[in-house]
Amino acid sequence: MEVVKAPDPRLRVKTKPVKKINQALKNILKQMIKLTQTFKDPEGVGLAATQIGLDGRFFVAKNEQQFISVVDPRILSLGKRTKKYFEGCLSIPNMWGEVRRHTNIKVQYQDQTGKNIILSLKGVLAWIFQHEIDHLNGILFSDRVLQQKGQFYKYTGKDKTGTDTFELVEL
Ligand SMILES: [Zn+2]
Repeated sequence: MEVVKAPDPRLRVKTKPVKKINQALKNILKQMIKLTQTFKDPEGVGLAATQIGLDGRFFVAKNEQQFISVVDPRILSLGKRTKKYFEGCLSIPNMWGEVRRHTNIKVQYQDQTGKNIILSLKGVLAWIFQHEIDHLNGILFSDRVLQQKGQFYKYTGKDKTGTDTFELVEL
């Protein structure tokens, strides 16, 4: 299992619902968590099916110290408030951009055991869910940056003090 990088067309697939969770999918979800955890700098906090070249509505996401598996997610409602976050993606290495997303969302999904879950999310996890659900619809954060007329930044390494540095990308 490997992370698919842009502009691979597999990242543009609008995925199909899973419906029934079988052992093969459970194994894939476990492997996806392991793969995401291998990314340390920047840290991997989420990985969607399209990012490993699969056509299915599922992803894994870091929730505080643990990873959760999310199958057939649906956004039930979006809060009114939005906020800009500095966002990156394992499929678009070294590129960052500001994306405006909803700060509070309510979602429904199945976990890896098929249990139906309804959650109200805020903060980082709400942001990860919106980023990953975009992936399941073939949308990348760079599309959102362009739509919102935001800026792209290229990661240019650490300076002498160990601080990450970025360069504005002129489009
Ligand atoms: Zn991503």
